[in-house]
Amino acid sequence: MDVVVAAGLVVLAWWAPPRRAGRWRWPMRIGLVLLGLVALWKLASARAGLVGPTLLRVDVDRPVVALTFDDGPTPAYTKPVLDLLEAEGVRATFFVTGQELAGHPELGRAILEGGHELGNHSWSHGRMIFRSAAWLTEEVESTDRVLRDVGVTGPIPFRPPYGKRLWGLHAVLGERPAVLWDVEPESFADIASDPEALAAHVVERAQPGSIVLLHAMYASRQATRDALPAIVRGLRRKGLEPVPLGELTR
Ligand SMILES: [Zn+2]
Repeated sequence: MDVVVAAGLVVLAWWAPPRRAGRWRWPMRIGLVLLGLVALWKLASARAGLVGPTLLRVDVDRPVVALTFDDGPTPAYTKPVLDLLEAEGVRATFFVTGQELAGHPELGRAILEGGHELGNHSWSHGRMIFRSAAWLTEEVESTDRVLRDVGVTGPIPFRPPYGKRLWGLHAVLGERPAVLWDVEPESFADIASDPEALAAHVVERAQPGSIVLLHAMYASRQATRDALPAIVRGLRRKGLEPVPLGELTR
């Protein structure tokens, strides 16, 4: 469906420049096509739910925030992250890829046993835009199946890789929202490698109903793992209790 929209844009851009534009007609065509494609690319990451149901934060009547971890589960870091969370007495949501979960279903079960939630982060972590309906469906449904196999019950939250989505993905998801986030400390290069700055950013930005995006499953994310205790304690000092996403939406 995204391809159809993109093709429509190209056709529109092609016919838009008037004949009297003369020799400027071609540069105008190319410029408009490029502009249209950039606009689509931007739209795919848009914060607002312009293309389908999107969750950035949740309206809550309690002082709670959702801690969410993307990617994995990886054998090297699942246990350390679970230990850190257990030490702080906190539960979270892990958006895992079907591929990694299928390789290590025991890690998925360990996450559930810790009282945490599992979510769907696609099968292969490809960008889910400009893809066929069949590919998108397979990415979502095969991951749902592995999640069910490791013991997930109830609704499965879905987060698209890189937060990117267009009409095609939403057609597959239906009413199920794309779960994004409103606090993303690692997106700022100057604080991503500094645990103290990372925690301070989260604590400062989080409000009741916030969804915090973190990555802690790869070697490169040591700063995030180091920041976890300070994030949890800082949020609590602010009166905000970190919970799994499902407790925000229920
Ligand atoms: Zn991811």
